[in-house]
Amino acid sequence: MLLDQTQAIEAAHQRRRDGERWGPRTLDLDLLLYADRVVQTDRLQIPHPEMTQRAFVLLPLAEIAPAGLVIPGAGSLQALLQRISSDGLRKL
Ligand code: ATP
Ligand code: CA
Ligand code: CA
Repeated sequence: MLLDQTQAIEAAHQRRRDGERWGPRTLDLDLLLYADRVVQTDRLQIPHPEMTQRAFVLLPLAEIAPAGLVIPGAGSLQALLQRISSDGLRKL
């Protein structure tokens, strides 16, 4: 599945999965959304369960998202953006 492919890309970039969670890593590819699908398996949750809490996800997403994007189970991207602080974020 697609997650196998993204994890293979991580591995090809020397990503190791034996360190601490959220520790330094060479590459991290997360699947945020898949159209309006909801997936809940042991290995895969879509929408990504933390994405609505993360300004560093939502703000860049807003730059590429179609107008009126709705995140299944969480509401519109526009409404989420109004509730989240972008303090500490800096565009590179
Ligand atoms: P976070 O998920 O909080 O951003 P992380 O990206 O550091 O943390 P990883 O160690 O890269 O977490 O991934 C842990 C597991 O999360 C993966 O092995 C994968 O099975 C699972 N996972 C569940 N949903 C997703 C998703 N939408 N995208 C990527 N991985 C997912
Ligand atoms: Ca991640
Ligand atoms: Ca990940």
